[in-house]
Amino acid sequence: MIYPRRKFLKNTASILPIMVIASSCGETKQASAKKPIIVSTWDSGLPVNEVGWKILSSGGKAIDAVEKGANSIEDTINCCVGLGGNPDRDGYVTLDACIMDDQYNCGSVAYLQDIKYPISVARKVMELTPHVMLVGEGAKQFALANGFKEEDGKLSEVAQIEYEKWLKKSEYKPIINIEQTQSKNQNNQAAPAKLDNGDFNHDTMGIVALDGQGNLSGSCTTSGMGFKMHGRVGDSPLIGGGLYVDNEIGAATSSGQGEEVIRICGTHLVVEYMRMGKSPTDACKAAIERLVKINPEKAKTFQVGFLAINKSGEHGAFSIQPGFVYAVKDSDQDGYLVNSESYFKG
Ligand code: ASP
Repeated sequence: MIYPRRKFLKNTASILPIMVIASSCGETKQASAKKPIIVSTWDSGLPVNEVGWKILSSGGKAIDAVEKGANSIEDTINCCVGLGGNPDRDGYVTLDACIMDDQYNCGSVAYLQDIKYPISVARKVMELTPHVMLVGEGAKQFALANGFKEEDGKLSEVAQIEYEKWLKKSEYKPIINIEQTQSKNQNNQAAPAKLDNGDFNHDTMGIVALDGQGNLSGSCTTSGMGFKMHGRVGDSPLIGGGLYVDNEIGAATSSGQGEEVIRICGTHLVVEYMRMGKSPTDACKAAIERLVKINPEKAKTFQVGFLAINKSGEHGAFSIQPGFVYAVKDSDQDGYLVNSESYFKG
């Protein structure tokens, strides 16, 4: 089934519990610890977690859960992940992805074209080469040499529509859409913002998981910011940018304006804050505060969200703008969504 992110939220918000983890006395309240557990960005993470959960619940490894979960969304005609994603400003879909296991092994691909499962190519880079990152034509050649099929470069129907909308103005404004405006709908919930340059210009899938053996892994896959400059690479394929895993401490992933995440080595920073003793939520919050402090005025204009779990399976997130949602699946409950707290309240 195809789940463009916002449609999915609309269809499921009424039947799924959405938890809001509230602040008390400046410290954020922490979601309880579980093992195994899988968490992933956005509401499109719900079906992704189900795929990963099948592996975790039958004793499988976190690295397999985060890879197969990512494959499941790379396989859909999603607006922002995989070949169905929005193209760059020249009409090409270019994919970024990275993966990291519990032994500091990592693999990454960037600016990859016409290959369906970038996260699996990244895993092959990790497992079969002495390198961490392959890009562009070299990454494609490596993929083809390792059994991946070349797909045609045709845009998905959704992406074609979005691209045509964007072309009307062809404005090069690398805005990441802020999920929710200050306006509220009739249920007093913030309503999604509409942008001139396409409704869907991000929604990277970041997944972090803790398996039954107590090992952490993560993956991050995206077509990147919609209508980006040709050749632009964001945070998502960067170890320490879109993803970081330290099996002693925890794992973190990000979504939002990649340039801003890169500036502070965002997910590495989140893990380091957890190393200092912060909970996942407070670690994400501290990283967001660090980012906002660089330029508080500019921070009002973009979205970044961090999502983290620690070694005992506690999870948490924090974002700049309201609207950053993540999906959780553990042994106790059906998959559910959590609304992260944000720096600006909307
Ligand atoms: N972080 C991604 C990028 O900058 C965008 C996203 O989160 O969807 O490419």
